[in-house]
Amino acid sequence: MTTHSTRMLILGSGPAGLSAAIYGARAGMEPIVVQGIQPGGQLMTTTDVENYPGFREVIQGPWLMGEMQAQAEHVGTRLMYDTIVEVDLSRRPFRLIGDGGDVYEGETLVIATGAQAKWLGLDSEEALKGKGVSACATCDGFFYRGKKVAVIGGGNTAVEEALYLTNHSPDVTLIHRRDTLRAEKILQARLHANERISVLWNKEVERFVDGGGTAGLVALELRDTLTGELSTLDVDGGFVAIGHHPATELFRGHVALDDDGYIAVETGSTRTSIPGVFACGDVMDKVYRQAITAAGTGCMAALDAERFLAEAEFVEEQAQAAE
Ligand SMILES: Cc1cc2nc3c(=O)[nH]c(=O)nc-3n(C[C@H](O)[C@H](O)[C@H](O)COP(=O)(O)OP(=O)(O)OC[C@H]3O[C@@H](n4cnc5c(N)ncnc54)[C@H](O)[C@@H]3O)c2cc1C
Repeated sequence: MTTHSTRMLILGSGPAGLSAAIYGARAGMEPIVVQGIQPGGQLMTTTDVENYPGFREVIQGPWLMGEMQAQAEHVGTRLMYDTIVEVDLSRRPFRLIGDGGDVYEGETLVIATGAQAKWLGLDSEEALKGKGVSACATCDGFFYRGKKVAVIGGGNTAVEEALYLTNHSPDVTLIHRRDTLRAEKILQARLHANERISVLWNKEVERFVDGGGTAGLVALELRDTLTGELSTLDVDGGFVAIGHHPATELFRGHVALDDDGYIAVETGSTRTSIPGVFACGDVMDKVYRQAITAAGTGCMAALDAERFLAEAEFVEEQAQAAE
């Protein structure tokens, strides 16, 4: 068992955690990043990224994250292959335990553990992820310009995704397993007013149909939830929009979470309910969920942490001088 100590401990190595690390290292905070089970974060699971600023041509998600990791290390970040299983945030330095028993002590803590999209859990869905099946219209909608797409879900996210997709697609079908939507009334009104969107009620996806070869997704096999009858809907893209799981179980009871389980932060900052603990990226953002916004809030968390520590150290020095 080894103890690793740092002025800035960062959990998570997606765009949020690595951006915090780059800013933290350049501010002399000598950060340690504990990478978790998905080093590089969610973008490691995708191929084409076309909306991260700075790259004229399409880049690959794993390549982008490799560059961010290299940049973070280059400026002095220590990247650890470990997953945190226990936290003690009752006093500083905060004390976190890795799954092999190593102890991580941080004078400040940046939580950047992300949020995972919920999926339907079908084998055919898994097989076609990135080949027509997506959980992010903002990320992938542009790839379906002029094509026929479907959105699966009935809440705010599903309706927002369907509306967003009409920027690219003339033919969007919303598929919902019930006969009423959970989405807010104003969103429902916009949905029904949009001529590019049709709704299929009481239907659930039985199978994402693979066209074989390089075709990817070509259709959805649907089951009627009332009659059990099967039907087929030809589509080029299928967007699963049934919500996200923020990776916050570890922090429940230690840091304030909002009603949806995301880490609660003060508006306009990354400060959490515990002084010295900051949160950035998808773990505190249920609205934008993009690599660039995660990187942006990662930068904010590092700046917030640096200022917090400078102030705390100043107060401690003054107190010692007065004794
Ligand atoms: C398939 C797909 C395609 C996408 N395409 C795009 C796109 O084209 N453009 C775009 O802008 N966005 C895209 N996104 C969204 C983007 O990936 C996310 O918004 C972004 O990755 C969020 O960054 P993050 O750093 O907050 O969290 P994540 O990237 O989710 O990283 C979370 C990190 O936390 C770590 N972690 C979790 N628990 C622990 C723990 N207990 N201990 C230590 N570490 C832990 C994980 O290992 C991981 O490293 C896509 C997402 C997906 C899934």
